[in-house]
Amino acid sequence: MLERTESESRKLLRRLRDTLAIPGKGQDRLDSITHLIADSMGSEVCSIYLFRDPETLELCASEGLKPESVHQTRMKIGEGLVGRVAKTGLPVNAANAPSENGFRYMPETGEEIYSSFLGVPIQRVGEKLGVLVVQSKTARQFSEDEIYALEVVAMVLAEMTELGLFVGDVDGMRTLHKQPVMIRGGTGQEGAAVGRVWLHEARVVITNPVADDPLTEIDRIRAAVGQLRVSVDDLLAAESLHKEQKQVLEAYRMFAHSRGWLKRMEDDIARGLSAEAAVEKEQSATRARLEQVPDAYLRERLHDLDDLSNRLLRILTGQGKNTGAEMPENPVLIARNIGPAELLEYGRKLKGVVLEEGSVGSHAAIVARALAIPLVIHANRILTEALNGDPIIVDGDQGIVHLRPEETLARAFRDKIAMQAAAQQRYANLRDLSATSKCGTTTHLMMNAGLMTDLPSLESSGAEGVGLFRTELQFLIHNKMPKRAELAALYARVIDAAKGRRVAFRTLDIGSDKVLPYMKPQDEPNPAMGWRAIRVGLDKPGMLRMQLQALIRASKGRPLTVMFPLITEYREFVAARDVIMAELDRETAMGHPMPAKVEVGAMLETPSLAYAPKAFFELTDFVSIGGNDLKQFFFAADRENERVRRRYDTLNVSFLRFIDHIVARCAETNTPLSFCGEDAGRPVEALAFAARGLRTLSMRPASIGPIKSLLRHVDLTEVNAVINRAVLDGAQSVRAALMDFLSTKPE
Ligand code: PEP
Ligand code: MG
Repeated sequence: MLERTESESRKLLRRLRDTLAIPGKGQDRLDSITHLIADSMGSEVCSIYLFRDPETLELCASEGLKPESVHQTRMKIGEGLVGRVAKTGLPVNAANAPSENGFRYMPETGEEIYSSFLGVPIQRVGEKLGVLVVQSKTARQFSEDEIYALEVVAMVLAEMTELGLFVGDVDGMRTLHKQPVMIRGGTGQEGAAVGRVWLHEARVVITNPVADDPLTEIDRIRAAVGQLRVSVDDLLAAESLHKEQKQVLEAYRMFAHSRGWLKRMEDDIARGLSAEAAVEKEQSATRARLEQVPDAYLRERLHDLDDLSNRLLRILTGQGKNTGAEMPENPVLIARNIGPAELLEYGRKLKGVVLEEGSVGSHAAIVARALAIPLVIHANRILTEALNGDPIIVDGDQGIVHLRPEETLARAFRDKIAMQAAAQQRYANLRDLSATSKCGTTTHLMMNAGLMTDLPSLESSGAEGVGLFRTELQFLIHNKMPKRAELAALYARVIDAAKGRRVAFRTLDIGSDKVLPYMKPQDEPNPAMGWRAIRVGLDKPGMLRMQLQALIRASKGRPLTVMFPLITEYREFVAARDVIMAELDRETAMGHPMPAKVEVGAMLETPSLAYAPKAFFELTDFVSIGGNDLKQFFFAADRENERVRRRYDTLNVSFLRFIDHIVARCAETNTPLSFCGEDAGRPVEALAFAARGLRTLSMRPASIGPIKSLLRHVDLTEVNAVINRAVLDGAQSVRAALMDFLSTKPE
């Protein structure tokens, strides 16, 4: 019979702890633990199965099963009853195990004589570590109380496994947080980085899963929950919460005030766990249960509860965000998700960012892109696997993370990065030269920016100006609407830093997915095609007008360039242009100095605008192709959807023909045309665009050197001939022909 009473349970945990305190080998410890549990619980068999690798469990110690089966018996996750416990993270309680569905007979263990089986997972907040099993000859169902007792023991084992008390010296076993791990995620921002892990929220380490005095622990947990409740209430009382944030916090409050939650943790403590271990036990159990639920809403709530448990652990352990650990050199930030402002705070000191969740269009991704930091998103399990200081490689191009990589791999990446740095050095020599091709045509290379910190790149990259200044970042990183004076000061600093070079300020491109924290979110089925950009600006002109006023004031009598995002038809451009004209009049009337010259342009991001009346091309001062959006609408392929976003080649003949059309429309009216999507910074694409007549390309600062070098090496009439030939030959994309052509050119 298993121990039932709380005091007996406590006694067992204490004996466990004392056994583990004695120095010894991992295997000896495991053996004595199984002996102790079997003895204390009055069961004939007690076995511990641990993960050998993420798919395979191995019998690592047993009291009662044949000794020769230890380290021989293995099963895949999901296989047999033990595998089922591991897979689901839930207990299996069988009175007559051999007749149970899925039972797998393992003759080497001699277990056929044991009827009843109780297996509970050894797990720690989503991290599956193994399975603890007790078996006995009499066929009977274990009681709820007995399951509970075994779960408490398993919790202590989980903590101890986590601390490396067992498998460190057991042959071939998976040592936690030691082996190389490769995680396949998605690309948030291209680039490669080699560095060391820096956890945005450090893992809470529990060194004392067993407590001697339950009363003290109960006082601690009550006080901590009290503190947690107050902090959630405070958050809820904050002004400027929008509906969605409120809903999440309401759910937090519901959990924080749940009597059941506190009661379960108190029961765990009564059985001998420390307050911290009790929090984790409940966190693990709820996770395992909710992970079985297919409902997305309920899974979201799982995160809420997780987050709340983490907060509670931090209160209990005093291990705040800043645990006093020192940030390693070349830090790579790891987080479940991160807000844009927090990411910006870390700034350029980060070498890379890896998010367990995240999305291509998230604000964090926008900031990572602005900072030109490689970002991998959807890196499943990275938070469970990574420890502060672990070596890590971020391969943003492939969307892959290598944690604790083999040295050869790390060396290959370091070489790759060094080569890129050396190339940048070579490009630096071209900084003051123009991108004039052998045929004598000059392409103007500009840079994209969105932050003050981007501006120094104007000097270092040799950009002729800023072809696209994304203004929404300033709005995204604050939790309230920036004031006009603040914006004016910021824009003035940008214009100052540009030292007379042209800066094309793109008015706010927000709405739909780029929701400002202080703006009511819209529930739209297709946000990219929804109420965004200039559409919001025209329907609710308050914010647009304020921004335009700030820009006019920032210019302080200098030239000002403004462009509107997502202009779809002529009328829309006229309306947007009217807003700026009205603001210019208003500012003049108020006595503010007028810009020396005002250029008002449109971003061509929808195919429709390419077919606008001639009057549009006559009215606009310039056209800038927003290739990222234009391509997604041209190919009907969502730029944020991993499955389709790279499916169609920019150098697809259809798209090039469309670019030709835009070039011709602009040429007809002598309207300056530029391209400012990500493709402008890709060498082969840039080459094709230049050959087809695009005279201005705006790109990431790091791309300017390579593109300039390439353009200076080629004759654009030759490039054009190559493209024409490929088109005549019926190619779907001209990429292969261009790559062939380039391969014949010396570097
Ligand atoms: C684009 O769409 O190409 C563009 C430059 O704007 P954004 O990427 O900010 O939408
Ligand atoms: Mg766009």
